[in-house]
Amino acid sequence: MAITGDGARTDRRGNGRPPETSAKSPAERLLDHLGPVEGSFDFDELGDFGLFAGTDMEHLIEPIAKAGPGSRLGPLEKIHVFWFSGMSCDGCSVSVTGATTPSIESLLLGTHPGLPRVILHHPVLTHESGPHYGAAAVRAVNGELDAPYAIVLEGSIADETRAMETGGHWAGNGEAPWGPGGAHRTVTAEEWVARLAPGAAASIAIGTCATWGGIPASYGNPTGAMSLMDFLGEEYRSAFGLPVVNVPGCPPIGDNFNETVAAILYFLQGFGPLPEFDELGRPAWLFGETVHRHCVRGAYYEEGSFAQEFGDPNCLVEIGCWGPVVNCNITSRGMVEHVGGCMNAGAPCVGCTMPGFPDKFTPRWKTPPGSKASTTTSRLVGSIIRPLRLFTNEHLNREVSWDLHDNVPSGWAVEKPEPGRVKDLGHRFYDRLRRSNDTSRNGHEPRGKRIEWTERRDPTTERVLPGGEEE
Ligand code: SF4
Ligand code: SF4
Repeated sequence: MAITGDGARTDRRGNGRPPETSAKSPAERLLDHLGPVEGSFDFDELGDFGLFAGTDMEHLIEPIAKAGPGSRLGPLEKIHVFWFSGMSCDGCSVSVTGATTPSIESLLLGTHPGLPRVILHHPVLTHESGPHYGAAAVRAVNGELDAPYAIVLEGSIADETRAMETGGHWAGNGEAPWGPGGAHRTVTAEEWVARLAPGAAASIAIGTCATWGGIPASYGNPTGAMSLMDFLGEEYRSAFGLPVVNVPGCPPIGDNFNETVAAILYFLQGFGPLPEFDELGRPAWLFGETVHRHCVRGAYYEEGSFAQEFGDPNCLVEIGCWGPVVNCNITSRGMVEHVGGCMNAGAPCVGCTMPGFPDKFTPRWKTPPGSKASTTTSRLVGSIIRPLRLFTNEHLNREVSWDLHDNVPSGWAVEKPEPGRVKDLGHRFYDRLRRSNDTSRNGHEPRGKRIEWTERRDPTTERVLPGGEEE
């Protein structure tokens, strides 16, 4: 029952990827293997079984979904989105339900001017069950759907032909009347994607399992798991001419995904150019930077200050952070509504957005070997820079008047000694240095710009004499 039949189904890691010389993609070979299908559900016979409130989700929310004529600016009033779950933990689904810019709810309700409303067919968020759940997808396969559609894959594509060898399946996603004599049979995520991707307006992979294979495709890979891109092949283009779009992350940031979907929908409406994607199909504006460049702990790295155990506030590189070489925007975007995210919560980056994840990021919680050169340099530079910054920080934490009176009138500062003679001279030197390029300076040499405090000074100590402030 192997697809290739040439004994070359597994690569050198046993990953079940197609041989690179194959002219056909795994999706095409699967369809060759399964053959064409036809037939639709007899809905009269099915009745309302599996239909909450006697109708499907689209028609249930339709009366409140249309935001009004003002929002229907483009040719598309609605678009179906079929969400399939491959080898997945459902973390991507959880992630998108937390997205707010835009939210799932606002997409379903069509509240964004110019965006078609989304008819989402999602195994968790749809209330149809049984055959009614697969009805729209069957119509799409038959070319009978009433609007364009896009497909979303969560989780990697399993090589279902391996499961078929023992009469099972790994990732069943509903039923279709494609069994012998029109009987209902389980349809896997792999089969739905193979049949629907060519006619889809866009095919979008969400999460690292769908974008790059992820954990199911890691070393060993008993299911032959692969990414959507690997499955559909290099030549794949959607009905609107798009290669596979990839929004990685384990789980991805929900807003990254929903924002990308919204940007693609604007393109499909004809309201703008195709958003910029990088050479791997990632939204370039979201994945163009490394984690490290926007990390909240970046200054610790620069000062050579590194955490030695979890809970330390410093840079996490020595307990396994790969942030300097990983493309991800969680440090600037957070996880949900700009809150949370790995380093913000104290977790080192394990590279979950990357095609090399997880195999190339093991062993976990160890210093990445490539960081040695820069951490050693940071330590050396930091040993000089850090004390200097502390010194200046102490100076800047004092009002000018406190310097001039040698006193901090704070009950909290009782235990804090005044700077000694050496520090005081250092601070004076710093002030002089700071004002050396002050084009507005006058003849006075006050600390800060407080001339009124400097009128009466002791010529020896340069301290302000009592009453000087009243001059
Ligand atoms: S915690 Fe990671 S991403 Fe943040 S500064 Fe350290 S190495 Fe860079
Ligand atoms: S910082 Fe690293 S581990 Fe965290 S989401 Fe980004 S890539 Fe994944």
